[in-house]
Amino acid sequence: GAASDALHRLVRDVPDYPEPGIVFKDITPLLSDPAGFAAVVDGLAAAGRDGEGRVVVDKVVGMEARGFIVGAPVALALGVGFVPVRKAGKLPGPTHAVSYALEYGEATLEVHCDAVAPGERVLLVDDVLATGGTVAATRELIAACGGETVGVAVLMELSFLPGRETAGDVPVTALAVV
Ligand code: IMP
Repeated sequence: GAASDALHRLVRDVPDYPEPGIVFKDITPLLSDPAGFAAVVDGLAAAGRDGEGRVVVDKVVGMEARGFIVGAPVALALGVGFVPVRKAGKLPGPTHAVSYALEYGEATLEVHCDAVAPGERVLLVDDVLATGGTVAATRELIAACGGETVGVAVLMELSFLPGRETAGDVPVTALAVV
């Protein structure tokens, strides 16, 4: 489809970034292409609807930083609120925090305690699903708020990593598997 075509045409591989041996998926050419960007936002937003097109999520959660860029327009398309999950020390209010291992390095993520209400249904949105550590950590944060992660939507899933398994028992939508 249009989204997968845009991803294959407009995402570039950057070898040895940010470390030797890592091939980084650079989405900046996609973001600067309005038709391509719109196609992938439509594709991600479909993960927040049922078969009849009804919106079935209460919040979209995006992970810093590229999850903000792709997640915010998905929230607007679905007509639901957007919640940023941020790296440690960036959110001003009371937070839940989770530390986890990255494909490269380690990180702590935080969410405002009141960003997701108990019982709310959440769609997680990010650019790349790699090891799945970011998704697993974010699911812990949503659970700490009392919310339920009902779906994960990413632009690209790296086929050579077990991200889907690490993400846990939740439907994962990837617009391209690379
Ligand atoms: P994971 O936690 O290993 O699944 O890594 C996913 C997180 O790292 C996401 O927030 C991505 O934005 C980022 N990431 C990992 N690999 C890449 C890549 O090749 N390109 C862009 N972002 C990446």
